[in-house]
Amino acid sequence: MKITGSIAEIRTIVQNARKEGKRIGFVPTMGYLHKGHLSLVEISKQHADFQVMSIFVNRIQFNDKKDFEDYPRDFERDFALAQSAGVHLMFTPDERDMYQNHLTYVEVESLSKYLCGATRPGHFRGVCTVVSKLFNIVLPDVSVFGRKDIQQALIIEKMVHDLNFPIQIITAPTIREEGGLAMSSRNKHLSHDERTRALSIHRGLLKAKSLIESGNRNTTEIKAVIQKEIEAAHPQKIDYIELVSYNSLHPIEKLDEKAILAVAAFFGNTRLIDNMLIHPCEGGFTCEL
Ligand code: AMP
Repeated sequence: MKITGSIAEIRTIVQNARKEGKRIGFVPTMGYLHKGHLSLVEISKQHADFQVMSIFVNRIQFNDKKDFEDYPRDFERDFALAQSAGVHLMFTPDERDMYQNHLTYVEVESLSKYLCGATRPGHFRGVCTVVSKLFNIVLPDVSVFGRKDIQQALIIEKMVHDLNFPIQIITAPTIREEGGLAMSSRNKHLSHDERTRALSIHRGLLKAKSLIESGNRNTTEIKAVIQKEIEAAHPQKIDYIELVSYNSLHPIEKLDEKAILAVAAFFGNTRLIDNMLIHPCEGGFTCEL
């Protein structure tokens, strides 16, 4: 695996791979890799011959300075994991090269207003800006994003469509720890007790799944079942529990279309998110965690 922080070098290496007839797959990350990240590489391999990964903790998507500073980092461990997953090229850009004298930002309107966008102002603007830059540097054919961050994946899909990036976006299932906690680099910050209590998010989603699949369409009741489960585990704070339209991310009052049930809650100082897709099917809805 070649590792470089040089934009020029990335361009040359990718260009050469393309000249050899290879399709380029790209997985952007902020590092501190876990099985969720590596699963994206596995999916990328099914669609592309040459795998590029980036690790860049993108300051402009953090609305909290301390959250940025405390974000876990371990490049040596990441490089070993990425190499064993089959990454060919690792891009570790320098913040100065990315943002010196930077004045241009990318914003996907409307979709960025809801859920995490409501409680983390500027977050998706930072995400869209860095992903646009990374896309323009790497020029991949395909890029894979995790469904754990479903709002992010939908916003990137919309950005790629609206700005005519010639890139196929693939969304990959959420990889979970034993007990159901969605894997996240931030889980490192959880104490043993917080981690145990955080399992309430997954339990709440499972209870909502049973309710929905047994025919309940009442958004208030569906959200209440999750709230009860999480509150019993004494979170620091529940940021949101929302049932939103899959297409607009607008909150819905009655479940009658493809939807997302999304949760964000703090255990200790760690903000965790999770979600479930709700698909209309013959005679009702099925839920996918
Ligand atoms: P991050 O490093 O947290 O910015 O995440 C980089 C990519 O990995 C994003 O597309 C995330 O959605 C994805 N990802 C993070 N956690 C998981 C997970 N548990 N399962 C699947 N994908 C994930």
